[in-house]
Amino acid sequence: MKKRIVTAGDRVYMKFFDMDFFKVRAQEADAELVPFKGFDERKFKHAIEQADALILIDRPLTHEHMSIMEKCSIVLALEVGYDFIDVQAATERGIVVSNVPVYCTDQVALHAFTLLLAVNRKLSTLTNETAGGGWDYNVCKPLYELEDRKLGIIGLGRIGRSLVSKAKSVGLEVIAYDPYLADDIFELNGVKRCYDLDDVLREADFISLHVPLTDETFHMIGEEEFKKMKREAVIVNTCRGKVIDEKALYNALKKTIIAGGGVDVLEKEPPDPDNPLLSMENLIVTPHVAWYSENSIERLKNLGMDEVIRVLAGKRPRFIVNPEVLYTKGVDNRSSQET
Ligand code: NAD
Repeated sequence: MKKRIVTAGDRVYMKFFDMDFFKVRAQEADAELVPFKGFDERKFKHAIEQADALILIDRPLTHEHMSIMEKCSIVLALEVGYDFIDVQAATERGIVVSNVPVYCTDQVALHAFTLLLAVNRKLSTLTNETAGGGWDYNVCKPLYELEDRKLGIIGLGRIGRSLVSKAKSVGLEVIAYDPYLADDIFELNGVKRCYDLDDVLREADFISLHVPLTDETFHMIGEEEFKKMKREAVIVNTCRGKVIDEKALYNALKKTIIAGGGVDVLEKEPPDPDNPLLSMENLIVTPHVAWYSENSIERLKNLGMDEVIRVLAGKRPRFIVNPEVLYTKGVDNRSSQET
């Protein structure tokens, strides 16, 4: 009997209008592709019960789901973040959890940098001026240069590090907070280390968030944190909406506790049309697009399917979130050298 690779999550079909590529590559694993669409829980459970592999974008996968998956070898988050998957439950079931962490690193850093520059140069104020028939540069006053101002990066992982050189190229000094890294990572990247989050909040003129969404980072930036920032501070968020308490962001911008922001992610996506953040003068909102380029789409689908095919063939995955699962699975470790 053919193996079954199930895909689910609306954003899969938003990113890939037709699933032909996945269908063709599924054949390499002697598998058929079963795209699941919609939100019906009962039908979703039915679809995953006999899945050998599950490919998801932002579709919650809970302990209960795992418990009915009888044959699944791999759950792949077809993106960088995997916060919607109960990784512990997967590990208990011996299921590999993989993601695709390297398909858009530079692109996201570039988008964060673009938001920073656009807010700094007050682009939306200026384009509103010209779109309304005006031609007065005074609408963007005051505007300051970037040289010798500070960017504070929260989360100095792949994307955070990629942002460092971009920021330095325009004369920004870079400081960063990431409690999970050794000192040499900061030194190698020419970044001043802050051991306390508060130091970044107080010192930085621009703050860019690059952490995964976890219990610890949920609402990591809230009312108290905004109060610690400079009045002229700008916040940029391209990681996950829930890392910022959105009500606190709204208040901070409305009461000009901080000067402005640029966000690519919101707590609820797509947002409700009446979300007040969508129409603020001092906030730029983009629709979770930081990852996107035609090149990154190509990398995403290829790296993702490589991973599924490897695991279905009993090989070691390239990107694993729960490596402890391999100790009990008896995978072919030698094949990890072939990547
Ligand atoms: P990464 O794992 O390479 O880096 C994350 C860093 O955050 C790590 O160095 C980690 O030590 C640090 N970290 C974890 N908890 C922290 C905390 N409490 N305080 C400070 N630092 C902490 O991940 P990455 O590739 O840089 O991606 C970061 C996030 O960006 C992803 O988790 C994903 O949610 C998001 N993302 C968004 C898009 C988009 O299109 N908007 C695209 C890709 C990734």
